[in-house]
Amino acid sequence: MTTINVRFAPSPTGKLHVGNIRLALINWLFAKKQDGYFILRIDDTDCERSSSEYEKMIIQDLMWLGLTWDFKFNQSERIKIYDQAIEKLKITGRLYPCYETPEELKYKRKHQLAKGTPPIYDREALTINNETRKTFESEGRKPHWRFKLKDEEISWNDLCRGFCRYHVSNLSDPILIRADGSLLYTLPSVVDDSELNITHVIRGEDHVTNTATQIQIFLALGTTIPQFAHLPLLTDDSNQVLSKRLNSFSISELRTSGIDAMALTSLLSKLGTSDSIQPHQSLIELISEFNIEKFSRATPKFNFAELKHLNSSLLHEMSFEQAKPRIKNIGICCTEEFWIAIRNNLSQLNTVKDWWYICYKEITPIITNLSFTKMAAELLPQEPWVTTTIWNDWIAILQQTTGYKGRNLFHPLRLALTGCKSGPGMKALLPIIGRSRAVARLNGNFA
Ligand code: GLU
Repeated sequence: MTTINVRFAPSPTGKLHVGNIRLALINWLFAKKQDGYFILRIDDTDCERSSSEYEKMIIQDLMWLGLTWDFKFNQSERIKIYDQAIEKLKITGRLYPCYETPEELKYKRKHQLAKGTPPIYDREALTINNETRKTFESEGRKPHWRFKLKDEEISWNDLCRGFCRYHVSNLSDPILIRADGSLLYTLPSVVDDSELNITHVIRGEDHVTNTATQIQIFLALGTTIPQFAHLPLLTDDSNQVLSKRLNSFSISELRTSGIDAMALTSLLSKLGTSDSIQPHQSLIELISEFNIEKFSRATPKFNFAELKHLNSSLLHEMSFEQAKPRIKNIGICCTEEFWIAIRNNLSQLNTVKDWWYICYKEITPIITNLSFTKMAAELLPQEPWVTTTIWNDWIAILQQTTGYKGRNLFHPLRLALTGCKSGPGMKALLPIIGRSRAVARLNGNFA
């Protein structure tokens, strides 16, 4: 059986958003499901726009989600290897220098559009003679380099889109090397995919046209062509494709807003499939349910409200074992009793802090009926308490003594004991708050 190798290849030119990370996750699940390898490739040949800060953020996001990689590399460290491929393409006449300036190209395009013809590069550079070339070079013009496409049909069997065919006569010869000598991602990607034996390229459908041209580059270099899967891109509520430029839902923002990594992966691994969206507590569960064939061609929608809802459900079902390390991360050490008492009340994990303060630190009680809460303090049984029955025992005594019931009985107690109008069940909270703190609060004291 062949080993499965996939890669996630972000450009470090911005923060990762949910659309990017969805593709990382799908690649990762695809690899794990088949005991394959997941490679992290940083596409940083564009020195102007790439930054090591963004690279650090990418790494932090992937680690937070648990999407570990088997191997990582940066394209900027492999320029010599790409140079060999460039030489090969030059020798075989598939790479040619072009001297048009950006302004000239823009003018050409405008002219073509005005005539009603598609703005395809006219290959004028192939017609210039040595003398003109020398003149350009003496003027200080540096060429950019284009890959000469073969005028033929390209086809592949896409794991998501099915059989795809593309006629390259509708395409411009792609620029592989910029005038400043830097490489666009197109060629390095092909070189890396073939050197690292990438078996499956799973990426967004914005790359379909690139695939057509890249298949020709694979053929020109005489290397094996991987299988492709192009997934529809995520859109937001207003049907806009999520993008770095729109600053859509960056992973770091979601993380700081208290979304759990598993809520995000539970959602993103299912969007675009017919599987129901449920909270999953571990990536192992997601691996077992994963199948690339489940992804349809329909455009999936990312809805933040859905993510928040999933996040709440996930927290409500989370065991203490699972919650413990996460709570520790936000600087709190708590008991299982506390976690079980408050988890149903959480929609985001960081609000654990508020309940931790209410249970163990000082709060300002809200007193609506001081004579009643003072009496309640007096009637609160001495410790030790039977934690499972103390609340009901106390309520029974209070009801009998005061004749209060329902909201009149419960609400002043909650307000005094927690300083909040709503929250977790008091039956579970009271034993955690403890007698001395409860008595002080019922008497209206900061405690
Ligand atoms: N750096 C490219 C991107 O982020 C990689 C595309 C690919 O997966 O081939 O769009």
